[in-house]
Amino acid sequence: MIALSLAEIAAVVGGQTHDIPDPSVQVTGPVVRDSREVVPGSLFAAFVGERVDGHDYAAQVVAAGAAAVLASRPVGVPAIVVEDVQTALGALARHVVRRLGATLVALTGSAGKTSTKDLIAQVLQRKAPTVFTPGSLNNEIGLPLTALSATEETKFLVLEMGARGIGHIRYLTGLTPPRIGLVLNVGTAHIGEFGGREQIAQAKGELVEALPPADEGGAALLNADDPLVRAMASRTKAKVVLFGESAEADVRAENVRLTDSGQPAFRLHTPSGAADVTMRLYGEHHVSNALAAAAVAHELGMSAEEIATALSEAGSLSRWRMEVTERPDGVTIVNDAYNANPESMRAALRALAAMGKGRRTWAVLGKMAELGDEALAEHDAVGRLAVRLNVSKLVAVGGIEASWLQLGAYNEGSWGEESVHVSDAQAAIDLLRSELRPGDVVLVKASRSVGLESVAQALVETG
Ligand code: ATP
Ligand code: MG
Repeated sequence: MIALSLAEIAAVVGGQTHDIPDPSVQVTGPVVRDSREVVPGSLFAAFVGERVDGHDYAAQVVAAGAAAVLASRPVGVPAIVVEDVQTALGALARHVVRRLGATLVALTGSAGKTSTKDLIAQVLQRKAPTVFTPGSLNNEIGLPLTALSATEETKFLVLEMGARGIGHIRYLTGLTPPRIGLVLNVGTAHIGEFGGREQIAQAKGELVEALPPADEGGAALLNADDPLVRAMASRTKAKVVLFGESAEADVRAENVRLTDSGQPAFRLHTPSGAADVTMRLYGEHHVSNALAAAAVAHELGMSAEEIATALSEAGSLSRWRMEVTERPDGVTIVNDAYNANPESMRAALRALAAMGKGRRTWAVLGKMAELGDEALAEHDAVGRLAVRLNVSKLVAVGGIEASWLQLGAYNEGSWGEESVHVSDAQAAIDLLRSELRPGDVVLVKASRSVGLESVAQALVETG
Protein backbone atom coordinates (compact mmCIF):
# COMPACT_ATOMS: atom_id res chain seq x y z
CA MET A 1 0.00 0.00 0.00
CA ILE A 2 1.08 3.61 -0.34
CA ALA A 3 1.94 4.81 3.15
CA LEU A 4 -0.77 6.79 4.93
CA SER A 5 -0.93 8.01 8.51
CA LEU A 6 -3.67 6.82 10.84
CA ALA A 7 -4.98 10.40 10.92
CA GLU A 8 -5.23 10.50 7.13
CA ILE A 9 -6.97 7.15 7.02
CA ALA A 10 -9.45 8.22 9.69
CA ALA A 11 -10.23 11.34 7.67
CA VAL A 12 -10.65 9.39 4.41
CA VAL A 13 -13.04 6.86 5.94
CA GLY A 14 -14.82 9.34 8.20
CA GLY A 15 -13.86 7.38 11.31
CA GLN A 16 -13.07 8.19 14.95
CA THR A 17 -9.66 7.38 16.32
CA HIS A 18 -9.67 5.41 19.59
CA ASP A 19 -6.75 4.51 21.83
CA ILE A 20 -4.31 5.96 19.29
CA PRO A 21 -1.46 7.72 21.11
CA ASP A 22 0.20 8.90 17.90
CA PRO A 23 -2.05 9.53 14.87
CA SER A 24 0.98 10.28 12.68
CA VAL A 25 1.97 6.59 12.77
CA GLN A 26 2.16 5.33 9.19
CA VAL A 27 0.27 2.36 7.82
CA THR A 28 2.54 0.82 5.25
CA GLY A 29 0.28 -2.13 4.53
CA PRO A 30 -0.94 -4.57 3.71
CA VAL A 31 -4.56 -4.12 4.73
CA VAL A 32 -5.77 -7.56 5.78
CA ARG A 33 -8.88 -9.21 7.18
CA ASP A 34 -7.17 -12.42 8.27
CA SER A 35 -5.25 -12.07 11.53
CA ARG A 36 -2.66 -14.58 10.32
CA GLU A 37 -1.62 -12.23 7.53
CA VAL A 38 -0.75 -9.33 9.80
CA VAL A 39 2.81 -8.00 9.58
CA PRO A 40 4.27 -4.83 11.14
CA GLY A 41 2.64 -1.78 9.56
CA SER A 42 -0.59 -3.57 8.61
CA LEU A 43 -4.09 -2.28 9.03
CA PHE A 44 -6.39 -5.03 10.24
CA ALA A 45 -10.00 -4.81 9.03
CA ALA A 46 -12.29 -6.40 11.62
CA PHE A 47 -15.33 -8.01 10.05
CA VAL A 48 -18.12 -9.66 11.97
CA GLY A 49 -18.67 -13.06 10.35
CA GLU A 50 -21.15 -15.76 11.12
CA ARG A 51 -18.78 -17.72 13.28
CA VAL A 52 -15.84 -15.40 13.91
CA ASP A 53 -15.77 -11.77 15.00
CA GLY A 54 -12.61 -10.03 13.80
CA HIS A 55 -12.82 -7.66 16.77
CA ASP A 56 -11.86 -10.56 19.04
CA TYR A 57 -8.43 -10.60 17.39
CA ALA A 58 -7.71 -6.91 17.95
CA ALA A 59 -5.22 -7.29 20.78
CA GLN A 60 -3.47 -10.16 19.02
CA VAL A 61 -2.98 -8.32 15.71
CA VAL A 62 -1.69 -5.18 17.39
CA ALA A 63 0.78 -7.33 19.34
CA ALA A 64 1.86 -8.78 16.00
CA GLY A 65 2.65 -5.29 14.73
CA ALA A 66 -0.58 -4.04 13.14
CA ALA A 67 -0.61 -0.23 13.25
CA ALA A 68 -4.32 -0.24 14.09
CA VAL A 69 -7.64 -1.97 13.64
CA LEU A 70 -10.38 -0.71 11.34
CA ALA A 71 -13.34 -1.58 13.50
CA SER A 72 -17.01 -0.97 14.10
CA ARG A 73 -16.52 -0.52 17.87
CA PRO A 74 -13.69 0.47 20.20
CA VAL A 75 -11.51 -2.53 21.01
CA GLY A 76 -9.09 -1.28 23.67
CA VAL A 77 -6.14 -1.08 21.25
CA PRO A 78 -5.43 1.51 18.50
CA ALA A 79 -8.49 1.58 16.25
CA ILE A 80 -10.23 3.68 13.65
CA VAL A 81 -13.89 3.19 14.42
CA VAL A 82 -16.41 3.47 11.63
CA GLU A 83 -20.08 2.63 11.19
CA ASP A 84 -19.43 0.02 8.54
CA VAL A 85 -16.04 -1.59 7.92
CA GLN A 86 -16.83 -2.68 4.37
CA THR A 87 -17.86 0.83 3.34
CA ALA A 88 -14.74 2.25 4.98
CA LEU A 89 -12.54 -0.22 3.18
CA GLY A 90 -14.13 0.80 -0.11
CA ALA A 91 -13.59 4.49 0.62
CA LEU A 92 -9.96 3.84 1.45
CA ALA A 93 -9.45 1.86 -1.76
CA ARG A 94 -11.05 4.65 -3.81
CA HIS A 95 -8.76 7.20 -2.18
CA VAL A 96 -5.63 5.13 -2.72
CA VAL A 97 -6.22 4.21 -6.37
CA ARG A 98 -6.76 7.89 -7.18
CA ARG A 99 -3.28 8.59 -5.89
CA LEU A 100 -1.65 5.67 -7.69
CA GLY A 101 -0.01 6.14 -11.06
CA ALA A 102 -1.29 2.73 -12.14
CA THR A 103 -3.59 1.90 -15.04
CA LEU A 104 -6.64 0.03 -13.78
CA VAL A 105 -7.86 -2.91 -15.81
CA ALA A 106 -11.11 -4.58 -14.73
CA LEU A 107 -12.68 -7.70 -16.13
CA THR A 108 -15.90 -9.56 -15.68
CA GLY A 109 -17.82 -12.37 -17.33
CA SER A 110 -19.68 -15.54 -16.46
CA ALA A 111 -16.82 -18.00 -16.86
CA GLY A 112 -13.07 -17.66 -17.13
CA LYS A 113 -12.51 -14.47 -15.13
CA THR A 114 -9.79 -15.90 -12.94
CA SER A 115 -8.11 -17.81 -15.77
CA THR A 116 -8.09 -14.65 -17.90
CA LYS A 117 -6.98 -12.42 -15.05
CA ASP A 118 -4.05 -14.77 -14.47
CA LEU A 119 -3.16 -14.62 -18.18
CA ILE A 120 -3.41 -10.83 -18.27
CA ALA A 121 -1.18 -10.57 -15.20
CA GLN A 122 1.45 -12.89 -16.65
CA VAL A 123 1.54 -10.95 -19.93
CA LEU A 124 1.59 -7.47 -18.37
CA GLN A 125 4.20 -8.41 -15.78
CA ARG A 126 6.70 -8.68 -18.61
CA LYS A 127 6.27 -5.02 -19.29
CA ALA A 128 5.92 -3.42 -15.87
CA PRO A 129 5.11 -4.16 -12.21
CA THR A 130 1.58 -5.55 -12.03
CA VAL A 131 -0.70 -6.19 -9.06
CA PHE A 132 -3.68 -8.47 -9.57
CA THR A 133 -6.52 -10.12 -7.72
CA PRO A 134 -5.20 -13.15 -5.86
CA GLY A 135 -7.31 -16.24 -6.61
CA SER A 136 -10.93 -15.27 -7.06
CA LEU A 137 -11.22 -12.45 -4.51
CA ASN A 138 -13.57 -10.49 -6.74
CA ASN A 139 -16.25 -9.14 -4.42
CA GLU A 140 -16.88 -5.99 -2.41
CA ILE A 141 -14.26 -6.99 0.18
CA GLY A 142 -11.65 -8.79 -1.94
CA LEU A 143 -11.57 -6.05 -4.55
CA PRO A 144 -10.61 -3.16 -2.20
CA LEU A 145 -8.10 -5.39 -0.42
CA THR A 146 -6.42 -6.12 -3.76
CA ALA A 147 -6.45 -2.47 -4.78
CA LEU A 148 -4.90 -1.54 -1.44
CA SER A 149 -2.03 -3.94 -2.04
CA ALA A 150 -0.78 -1.79 -4.93
CA THR A 151 2.26 0.43 -4.29
CA GLU A 152 3.90 3.48 -5.89
CA GLU A 153 5.80 1.10 -8.20
CA THR A 154 2.63 -0.56 -9.51
CA LYS A 155 2.01 0.26 -13.16
CA PHE A 156 -0.91 -2.06 -13.84
CA LEU A 157 -3.66 -3.06 -11.44
CA VAL A 158 -5.73 -5.96 -12.78
CA LEU A 159 -9.02 -6.53 -11.00
CA GLU A 160 -11.47 -9.40 -11.35
CA MET A 161 -15.04 -8.24 -10.72
CA GLY A 162 -17.80 -10.69 -9.90
CA ALA A 163 -21.51 -9.97 -10.13
CA ARG A 164 -24.31 -11.88 -8.52
CA GLY A 165 -26.91 -9.25 -9.33
CA ILE A 166 -27.74 -5.89 -10.86
CA GLY A 167 -25.74 -3.04 -9.32
CA HIS A 168 -22.84 -5.16 -8.05
CA ILE A 169 -20.39 -4.20 -10.80
CA ARG A 170 -21.48 -0.57 -10.57
CA TYR A 171 -20.59 -0.64 -6.89
CA LEU A 172 -17.17 -2.19 -7.58
CA THR A 173 -16.31 0.22 -10.40
CA GLY A 174 -17.26 3.05 -8.05
CA LEU A 175 -14.52 1.89 -5.67
CA THR A 176 -11.82 1.32 -8.28
CA PRO A 177 -12.74 3.07 -11.54
CA PRO A 178 -11.05 1.22 -14.40
CA ARG A 179 -9.66 2.83 -17.54
CA ILE A 180 -9.81 -0.47 -19.39
CA GLY A 181 -12.84 -2.72 -18.95
CA LEU A 182 -13.15 -6.20 -20.40
CA VAL A 183 -16.21 -8.42 -20.68
CA LEU A 184 -15.52 -12.06 -21.47
CA ASN A 185 -18.88 -13.73 -21.91
CA VAL A 186 -22.44 -13.89 -20.74
CA GLY A 187 -23.13 -17.48 -19.90
CA THR A 188 -25.37 -19.25 -17.52
CA ALA A 189 -23.34 -18.87 -14.32
CA HIS A 190 -25.68 -17.89 -11.47
CA ILE A 191 -28.58 -17.80 -13.94
CA GLY A 192 -30.85 -19.12 -11.21
CA GLU A 193 -30.20 -16.04 -9.11
CA PHE A 194 -30.30 -13.56 -11.97
CA GLY A 195 -33.43 -14.80 -13.73
CA GLY A 196 -32.03 -14.96 -17.26
CA ARG A 197 -29.22 -14.19 -19.69
CA GLU A 198 -30.52 -10.70 -20.49
CA GLN A 199 -30.31 -9.81 -16.82
CA ILE A 200 -26.80 -11.21 -16.62
CA ALA A 201 -25.83 -9.07 -19.62
CA GLN A 202 -27.44 -6.08 -17.97
CA ALA A 203 -25.36 -6.64 -14.83
CA LYS A 204 -22.02 -7.34 -16.56
CA GLY A 205 -22.46 -4.38 -18.91
CA GLU A 206 -22.30 -2.02 -15.95
CA LEU A 207 -18.54 -2.39 -16.35
CA VAL A 208 -18.42 -0.67 -19.74
CA GLU A 209 -20.89 1.99 -18.62
CA ALA A 210 -18.41 2.99 -15.93
CA LEU A 211 -15.49 3.56 -18.30
CA PRO A 212 -14.20 7.05 -19.14
CA PRO A 213 -14.87 8.32 -22.68
CA ALA A 214 -12.52 7.43 -25.52
CA ASP A 215 -10.80 10.82 -25.50
CA GLU A 216 -9.85 10.27 -21.85
CA GLY A 217 -8.37 6.88 -22.64
CA GLY A 218 -11.35 4.67 -21.84
CA ALA A 219 -11.30 1.33 -23.66
CA ALA A 220 -14.00 -1.32 -23.64
CA LEU A 221 -12.67 -4.70 -24.71
CA LEU A 222 -15.55 -6.88 -25.82
CA ASN A 223 -15.82 -10.48 -26.96
CA ALA A 224 -16.90 -10.33 -30.60
CA ASP A 225 -18.00 -13.98 -30.50
CA ASP A 226 -20.62 -13.45 -27.81
CA PRO A 227 -23.61 -11.49 -29.15
CA LEU A 228 -24.73 -10.30 -25.72
CA VAL A 229 -21.23 -8.97 -25.00
CA ARG A 230 -20.86 -7.36 -28.41
CA ALA A 231 -24.12 -5.54 -27.92
CA MET A 232 -22.58 -3.78 -24.91
CA ALA A 233 -20.72 -1.52 -27.38
CA SER A 234 -23.80 0.71 -27.36
CA ARG A 235 -23.58 1.15 -23.59
CA THR A 236 -20.17 2.82 -23.41
CA LYS A 237 -18.50 6.11 -24.30
CA ALA A 238 -15.13 4.38 -24.31
CA LYS A 239 -13.31 3.21 -27.42
CA VAL A 240 -14.50 -0.29 -28.34
CA VAL A 241 -11.96 -2.99 -29.15
CA LEU A 242 -13.31 -6.38 -30.23
CA PHE A 243 -11.50 -9.64 -29.59
CA GLY A 244 -12.47 -13.13 -30.69
CA GLU A 245 -12.39 -15.54 -33.57
CA SER A 246 -14.79 -13.50 -35.72
CA ALA A 247 -13.17 -11.95 -38.78
CA GLU A 248 -14.12 -8.43 -37.71
CA ALA A 249 -12.42 -8.66 -34.32
CA ASP A 250 -9.51 -6.24 -33.85
CA VAL A 251 -7.59 -8.82 -31.83
CA ARG A 252 -8.31 -12.25 -33.24
CA ALA A 253 -7.17 -15.82 -33.58
CA GLU A 254 -6.83 -17.66 -36.86
CA ASN A 255 -6.19 -21.32 -37.51
CA VAL A 256 -7.35 -22.32 -34.04
CA ARG A 257 -6.67 -25.95 -33.24
CA LEU A 258 -5.93 -28.26 -30.34
CA THR A 259 -2.54 -29.95 -30.34
CA ASP A 260 -2.52 -33.69 -29.73
CA SER A 261 -1.96 -33.01 -26.08
CA GLY A 262 -5.13 -30.91 -25.95
CA GLN A 263 -3.42 -27.53 -25.79
CA PRO A 264 -4.78 -24.73 -27.96
CA ALA A 265 -2.64 -23.26 -30.72
CA PHE A 266 -3.49 -20.36 -33.03
CA ARG A 267 -2.12 -17.41 -34.97
CA LEU A 268 -2.65 -14.19 -33.04
CA HIS A 269 -3.50 -11.07 -35.01
CA THR A 270 -3.47 -7.65 -33.38
CA PRO A 271 -3.58 -4.28 -35.14
CA SER A 272 0.21 -4.19 -34.73
CA GLY A 273 1.08 -7.55 -36.26
CA ALA A 274 0.72 -11.31 -36.04
CA ALA A 275 2.52 -14.15 -34.23
CA ASP A 276 1.98 -17.81 -33.35
CA VAL A 277 0.80 -19.00 -29.96
CA THR A 278 0.90 -22.53 -28.52
CA MET A 279 -0.51 -22.51 -25.03
CA ARG A 280 0.60 -24.52 -22.03
CA LEU A 281 -2.93 -24.43 -20.65
CA TYR A 282 -5.46 -27.08 -21.63
CA GLY A 283 -8.82 -26.57 -23.30
CA GLU A 284 -10.04 -24.51 -26.22
CA HIS A 285 -11.91 -22.13 -23.91
CA HIS A 286 -8.49 -20.64 -23.17
CA VAL A 287 -8.34 -19.26 -26.72
CA SER A 288 -11.01 -16.75 -25.79
CA ASN A 289 -9.24 -16.00 -22.52
CA ALA A 290 -5.92 -15.56 -24.31
CA LEU A 291 -7.44 -13.21 -26.86
CA ALA A 292 -8.92 -11.17 -24.04
CA ALA A 293 -5.48 -10.94 -22.45
CA ALA A 294 -3.96 -10.05 -25.82
CA ALA A 295 -6.50 -7.24 -26.25
CA VAL A 296 -5.47 -5.76 -22.90
CA ALA A 297 -1.77 -6.07 -23.69
CA HIS A 298 -2.20 -4.54 -27.14
CA GLU A 299 -4.12 -1.65 -25.62
CA LEU A 300 -1.20 -1.12 -23.24
CA GLY A 301 1.35 -0.99 -26.04
CA MET A 302 2.71 -4.51 -26.34
CA SER A 303 3.56 -6.00 -29.74
CA ALA A 304 1.96 -9.14 -31.15
CA GLU A 305 5.31 -10.92 -30.78
CA GLU A 306 5.69 -10.00 -27.12
CA ILE A 307 2.12 -11.00 -26.38
CA ALA A 308 2.41 -14.33 -28.22
CA THR A 309 5.56 -15.26 -26.33
CA ALA A 310 3.99 -14.40 -23.00
CA LEU A 311 0.81 -16.33 -23.76
CA SER A 312 2.78 -19.37 -24.88
CA GLU A 313 4.73 -19.41 -21.64
CA ALA A 314 1.85 -18.62 -19.28
CA GLY A 315 0.82 -21.26 -16.78
CA SER A 316 -2.15 -21.59 -14.50
CA LEU A 317 -1.83 -19.59 -11.30
CA SER A 318 -4.95 -20.99 -9.72
CA ARG A 319 -5.65 -24.55 -8.58
CA TRP A 320 -8.02 -27.18 -9.91
CA ARG A 321 -8.54 -25.58 -13.32
CA MET A 322 -7.61 -28.12 -15.98
CA GLU A 323 -4.68 -29.21 -13.81
CA VAL A 324 -3.04 -32.10 -15.62
CA THR A 325 -1.07 -34.82 -13.79
CA GLU A 326 0.67 -37.71 -15.53
CA ARG A 327 0.82 -40.69 -13.20
CA PRO A 328 3.88 -42.93 -13.33
CA ASP A 329 1.65 -45.76 -14.57
CA GLY A 330 0.61 -43.77 -17.65
CA VAL A 331 -2.80 -42.65 -16.41
CA THR A 332 -3.51 -38.94 -17.01
CA ILE A 333 -5.69 -37.09 -14.49
CA VAL A 334 -7.27 -33.77 -15.51
CA ASN A 335 -8.49 -31.95 -12.42
CA ASP A 336 -11.02 -29.30 -13.44
CA ALA A 337 -13.00 -29.65 -10.25
CA TYR A 338 -12.82 -25.97 -9.33
CA ASN A 339 -16.18 -25.21 -10.88
CA ALA A 340 -18.48 -26.01 -13.76
CA ASN A 341 -21.10 -24.44 -15.94
CA PRO A 342 -22.42 -25.63 -19.32
CA GLU A 343 -19.82 -23.70 -21.32
CA SER A 344 -16.86 -24.93 -19.31
CA MET A 345 -18.23 -28.49 -19.24
CA ARG A 346 -18.30 -28.53 -23.03
CA ALA A 347 -14.83 -27.03 -23.29
CA ALA A 348 -13.41 -29.54 -20.83
CA LEU A 349 -15.03 -32.48 -22.61
CA ARG A 350 -13.58 -31.34 -25.92
CA ALA A 351 -10.14 -31.04 -24.32
CA LEU A 352 -10.56 -34.55 -22.93
CA ALA A 353 -11.43 -35.84 -26.40
CA ALA A 354 -8.38 -34.15 -27.92
CA MET A 355 -6.02 -35.44 -25.22
CA GLY A 356 -7.51 -38.90 -25.33
CA LYS A 357 -7.14 -39.69 -29.01
CA GLY A 358 -6.43 -43.39 -29.24
CA ARG A 359 -6.77 -43.76 -25.48
CA ARG A 360 -9.59 -44.71 -23.15
CA THR A 361 -11.26 -41.56 -21.78
CA TRP A 362 -13.30 -41.13 -18.60
CA ALA A 363 -15.53 -38.18 -17.81
CA VAL A 364 -16.17 -38.06 -14.08
CA LEU A 365 -18.82 -35.37 -13.83
CA GLY A 366 -21.10 -33.90 -11.19
CA LYS A 367 -23.80 -31.32 -11.15
CA MET A 368 -23.63 -27.82 -12.56
CA ALA A 369 -25.22 -25.61 -9.90
CA GLU A 370 -27.38 -22.51 -10.17
CA LEU A 371 -29.01 -23.28 -13.52
CA GLY A 372 -32.59 -22.69 -12.42
CA ASP A 373 -35.15 -23.87 -14.97
CA GLU A 374 -32.44 -24.83 -17.45
CA ALA A 375 -30.85 -27.43 -15.18
CA LEU A 376 -32.42 -30.54 -16.67
CA ALA A 377 -31.82 -29.53 -20.31
CA GLU A 378 -28.23 -28.46 -19.65
CA HIS A 379 -27.26 -31.68 -17.85
CA ASP A 380 -28.95 -33.72 -20.55
CA ALA A 381 -26.98 -31.82 -23.23
CA VAL A 382 -23.67 -32.45 -21.47
CA GLY A 383 -24.42 -36.19 -21.24
CA ARG A 384 -25.20 -36.22 -24.96
CA LEU A 385 -22.03 -34.34 -25.83
CA ALA A 386 -19.93 -36.90 -23.96
CA VAL A 387 -21.31 -39.57 -26.27
CA ARG A 388 -20.86 -37.48 -29.41
CA LEU A 389 -17.22 -36.85 -28.50
CA ASN A 390 -16.70 -40.59 -28.09
CA VAL A 391 -15.82 -40.39 -24.44
CA SER A 392 -15.32 -44.01 -23.39
CA LYS A 393 -16.92 -43.89 -19.96
CA LEU A 394 -19.14 -41.45 -18.10
CA VAL A 395 -19.15 -41.55 -14.32
CA ALA A 396 -21.97 -39.31 -13.11
CA VAL A 397 -21.53 -38.43 -9.44
CA GLY A 398 -24.23 -37.28 -7.02
CA GLY A 399 -27.97 -36.78 -6.97
CA ILE A 400 -30.67 -35.99 -9.49
CA GLU A 401 -28.43 -33.90 -11.77
CA ALA A 402 -26.11 -36.88 -12.18
CA SER A 403 -29.02 -38.98 -13.34
CA TRP A 404 -29.85 -36.29 -15.92
CA LEU A 405 -26.28 -36.48 -17.21
CA GLN A 406 -26.61 -40.21 -17.50
CA LEU A 407 -30.00 -39.97 -19.16
CA GLY A 408 -28.62 -37.61 -21.81
CA ALA A 409 -25.83 -40.04 -22.59
CA TYR A 410 -28.27 -42.90 -22.72
CA ASN A 411 -30.64 -41.10 -25.09
CA GLU A 412 -27.86 -39.99 -27.39
CA GLY A 413 -26.14 -43.30 -27.76
CA SER A 414 -28.27 -46.00 -26.19
CA TRP A 415 -25.49 -46.31 -23.71
CA GLY A 416 -25.51 -49.10 -21.23
CA GLU A 417 -22.35 -50.04 -19.39
CA GLU A 418 -20.44 -47.02 -20.66
CA SER A 419 -22.19 -44.84 -18.14
CA VAL A 420 -22.34 -45.31 -14.41
CA HIS A 421 -24.17 -43.31 -11.78
CA VAL A 422 -22.53 -43.29 -8.34
CA SER A 423 -23.87 -41.61 -5.24
CA ASP A 424 -20.82 -39.72 -4.02
CA ALA A 425 -17.14 -38.92 -4.43
CA GLN A 426 -15.99 -41.94 -2.41
CA ALA A 427 -17.97 -44.31 -4.61
CA ALA A 428 -16.36 -42.72 -7.68
CA ILE A 429 -12.90 -43.15 -6.15
CA ASP A 430 -13.55 -46.83 -5.39
CA LEU A 431 -14.84 -47.49 -8.88
CA LEU A 432 -11.99 -45.72 -10.64
CA ARG A 433 -9.30 -47.28 -8.45
CA SER A 434 -10.40 -50.71 -9.58
CA GLU A 435 -11.13 -49.85 -13.21
CA LEU A 436 -8.35 -47.53 -14.40
CA ARG A 437 -5.74 -48.99 -16.74
CA PRO A 438 -2.44 -47.56 -17.94
CA GLY A 439 -3.00 -45.05 -20.73
CA ASP A 440 -6.45 -43.92 -19.54
CA VAL A 441 -7.29 -40.21 -19.39
CA VAL A 442 -9.66 -39.03 -16.65
CA LEU A 443 -11.43 -35.67 -16.52
CA VAL A 444 -12.91 -34.68 -13.14
CA LYS A 445 -15.33 -31.76 -13.15
CA ALA A 446 -18.39 -30.40 -11.34
CA SER A 447 -19.58 -27.28 -9.61
CA ARG A 448 -17.66 -26.12 -6.55
CA SER A 449 -20.24 -27.39 -4.09
CA VAL A 450 -19.78 -31.01 -5.23
CA GLY A 451 -16.14 -31.01 -4.11
CA LEU A 452 -14.92 -33.45 -6.75
CA GLU A 453 -11.31 -32.34 -6.25
CA SER A 454 -11.19 -35.11 -3.64
CA VAL A 455 -11.65 -37.60 -6.47
CA ALA A 456 -8.91 -36.04 -8.55
CA GLN A 457 -6.57 -35.90 -5.58
CA ALA A 458 -7.22 -39.50 -4.57
CA LEU A 459 -6.54 -40.65 -8.13
CA VAL A 460 -3.35 -38.63 -8.38
CA GLU A 461 -2.11 -40.20 -5.14
CA THR A 462 -3.05 -43.73 -6.15
CA GLY A 463 -0.61 -43.72 -9.07
P1 ATP B 1 -15.72 -17.60 -10.44
O1 ATP B 1 -17.06 -17.00 -10.77
O2 ATP B 1 -15.80 -18.83 -9.59
O3 ATP B 1 -14.73 -16.60 -9.93
P2 ATP B 1 -14.30 -17.46 -12.96
O4 ATP B 1 -15.17 -16.67 -13.88
O5 ATP B 1 -13.20 -16.74 -12.30
O6 ATP B 1 -15.17 -18.21 -11.87
P3 ATP B 1 -12.41 -19.49 -13.73
O7 ATP B 1 -12.11 -19.75 -12.31
O8 ATP B 1 -11.34 -18.92 -14.57
O9 ATP B 1 -13.74 -18.63 -13.87
O10 ATP B 1 -12.90 -20.83 -14.41
C1 ATP B 1 -14.05 -21.51 -13.90
C2 ATP B 1 -14.36 -22.67 -14.79
O11 ATP B 1 -14.70 -22.22 -16.10
C3 ATP B 1 -13.19 -23.60 -14.96
O12 ATP B 1 -13.70 -24.89 -14.85
C4 ATP B 1 -12.64 -23.33 -16.34
O13 ATP B 1 -12.17 -24.49 -16.94
C5 ATP B 1 -13.83 -22.79 -17.10
N1 ATP B 1 -13.51 -21.72 -18.07
C6 ATP B 1 -12.40 -20.97 -18.10
N2 ATP B 1 -12.46 -20.08 -19.12
C7 ATP B 1 -13.65 -20.27 -19.74
C8 ATP B 1 -14.29 -19.66 -20.87
N3 ATP B 1 -13.73 -18.68 -21.56
N4 ATP B 1 -15.52 -20.13 -21.22
C9 ATP B 1 -16.09 -21.12 -20.54
N5 ATP B 1 -15.53 -21.73 -19.48
C10 ATP B 1 -14.32 -21.33 -19.08
MG1 MG C 1 -12.88 -16.31 -10.35
